[in-house]
Amino acid sequence: MTILVTGGAGYIGSHMVYALVEAGEDVVVIDNLATGFSTSLPEGVPLFIGDAADENLVMGVVAAHGVDAIIHFAGSVVVPDSMRDPLDYYRNNTMTTRSLLSAAVRSGVKRFIFSSTAAVYGNPDQMPVSEEMPTRPLSPYGSSKLMSEIMLHDAARAHGLDFVVLRYFNVAGADPQARTGLATMGATHLLKIAVEAATGQRAKIDVFGTDYPTPDGSCIRDFIHVSDLAQAHRAALAYLECDGPSTTLNCGYGRGYSVLETIEAVRRVSGRNFAVQEGPRRPGDIVTMIADTSRIRSTLDWTPRYDDLDTIAAHALAWEEKLARERTGGDMLARSA
Ligand code: UDP
Repeated sequence: MTILVTGGAGYIGSHMVYALVEAGEDVVVIDNLATGFSTSLPEGVPLFIGDAADENLVMGVVAAHGVDAIIHFAGSVVVPDSMRDPLDYYRNNTMTTRSLLSAAVRSGVKRFIFSSTAAVYGNPDQMPVSEEMPTRPLSPYGSSKLMSEIMLHDAARAHGLDFVVLRYFNVAGADPQARTGLATMGATHLLKIAVEAATGQRAKIDVFGTDYPTPDGSCIRDFIHVSDLAQAHRAALAYLECDGPSTTLNCGYGRGYSVLETIEAVRRVSGRNFAVQEGPRRPGDIVTMIADTSRIRSTLDWTPRYDDLDTIAAHALAWEEKLARERTGGDMLARSA
């Protein structure tokens, strides 16, 4: 069996491709390299540079490689960008998923795994948040993913597709061997910013709000290691192969760390005491976001390996150090030590 990974040259997609290759699966990637890098892929994996919305391309790849499952990562993921340019998010996320589903149906692919997000919940009434809770996204990004989920449900019912929707909480960390990681410039994610500060690529990190109703006043997130997330996709594939019914699953560990605790973990593992500046709240931030993980744990054969904040921080740091060395020839790291 061959698995098509869209967005396979991106952050999460490339970890997925490594996990599949290591498991001996045949993999083929479609990526337009808008934010991904061909160098993030293991050697020998066929990469088709093009758009997952290109039905002819997808159908050609499916036919040529005997694809029988699609894992769909390709898309845009920056919430503030989606507020500025919502129509672009509906094009690149929702419309692309529509085209990809059409290509899947027309070429007879029966298994589909979709990258969704905890952003579909908006501001939940209860914590931890379970899959049955209302979906009320607060951003076009969340809406674009929710609309894709709805299309997937409808197409699955009409055309006999089996799917797993995975709703990611805060994905972080990097490949434990530092073969791939988050390489996008200008990333806004907390752990990425913290390791950039630890490697001297930024002067400081701002904490967006320390007056929240939490023990230390900063927001709380459920960080999941990107390699564990990739393994959850493998488990989802195995589940579909055993004829498991289509389902939607939260992907997190079910426990939260505060922004200040997360920054402290990066300081601890790096041994670098970079500046932390407490500032105002960031508009739109949810106070606490923690997954109810009972469904994923009871549905999939999935045991996380890196459920530890220091491990996540250490892997993110090791990857960032590698990137910084490549970008600066080592000067920056020497200065920040
Ligand atoms: N955050 C922060 N400083 C930063 C980046 C993020 O204080 O430089 C906070 C942000 O306000 C939120 C948490 O870290 O409370 C997680 O933010 P991120 O953008 O990583 O993910 P989100 O939960 O928004 O998807």
